[in-house]
Amino acid sequence: MEFIDLKSQYMLSRDLINQRIQAVLDHGQYIMGPEVGELEARLAGFCGARHCVTVASGTEALIISLMALGIGPGDEVLTTPFSFIATAEAILLVGAKPVFVDIDRATCNIDPRQIESKITPRTRAIMPVSLFGQPADMEQINSIGQRYNLAVIEDAAQSFGATYQGKKSCNLSTIGCTSFFPSKPLGCYGDGGALFTNDDMLATAAREIRVHGQSRRYVHTRVGVGGRMDTLQCAIVLAKLENFERELGLRADIAASYEQKLSGKIRLIKLMPDRTSVYAQYTVALDERERVREVLHQAGIPTAIHYPVPIHRQPAYAWLSNVDACPVAMDMAEKVLSIPMGPYMSQSDITHVTDVLIKAATQTPSGRMDVVELSK
Ligand SMILES: *Cc1c(COP(=O)(O)O)cnc(C)c1O
Repeated sequence: MEFIDLKSQYMLSRDLINQRIQAVLDHGQYIMGPEVGELEARLAGFCGARHCVTVASGTEALIISLMALGIGPGDEVLTTPFSFIATAEAILLVGAKPVFVDIDRATCNIDPRQIESKITPRTRAIMPVSLFGQPADMEQINSIGQRYNLAVIEDAAQSFGATYQGKKSCNLSTIGCTSFFPSKPLGCYGDGGALFTNDDMLATAAREIRVHGQSRRYVHTRVGVGGRMDTLQCAIVLAKLENFERELGLRADIAASYEQKLSGKIRLIKLMPDRTSVYAQYTVALDERERVREVLHQAGIPTAIHYPVPIHRQPAYAWLSNVDACPVAMDMAEKVLSIPMGPYMSQSDITHVTDVLIKAATQTPSGRMDVVELSK
């Protein structure tokens, strides 16, 4: 069993993907070829956003978004410490300061009730992460953003395709950023990403910043980066888009099977009723994680931990906050465990994972059940 099975997906879409790659090799426009604009139009349509700008990676999407908003030295950006490092890294790279807000224990997303108390005159933006594939509490976050005139950048690297009150992730705030890293729900075969906005000025800024701040050839209106997404990677995403909706359905089916077998026995990440998840990860919470993880490993079941150390406790980031900051993130970092997930997982694999997991987690050496909590 694989943690994320990319091979089955390739075998199923092999002809489509190969044809798309061959078309790029035939026309030879490896940088900003026709597939780039084609993908941007398709993705903007998918999300219902006015603009999509493809970029070199999800990290680059975050950096370019911050640059397009003019956020830099002296500015503060509120974000979650319970994410992949790139979220806070992008903020520091533009010279601004990430200010960490603790998470909600049930969803592991930023806790909107704790945002306001962290706002200062230097705060310029809020950067929530739609973790594990479920959108953050965007309505509450946007309303705080509006009240204090702050931009809201959704780090939707894990949630492309998810919905919030019927609207697509990436189109829920000032800017939405996603990643096409191979293991994400919509992945390419290398690095890639995109940002989405309904603001014409921000879209123009982002388009220029991704090509060295160039507004016309050899006219550099602003300072930018080399941040384009390759034509080949755009072609691969275009091919994979053909089956994406179907795969989202399959992901939801797998998650429903997991939930049906695990709920009441294992603590699950809560899916809020007004949104859908694309399950970039299927994550559970365990009191005796290391022991359970070892049992799963012995049974041939790969697992991963998203994330073992919150960003505010990482060596290069610890200076940003107090040692006792974000206690919920600290606690969840010791409990979360992600189990295999993917659209082409078999029922027998699901049964194997859940059988081993339930047995390991509920039959602890002391004989008591580990954690019992319903997910809904
Ligand atoms: C994957 C990821 C990123 C970075 O995306 P890359 O394409 O790898 O640069 C940023 N934020 C989150 C939450 C992610 O999961």
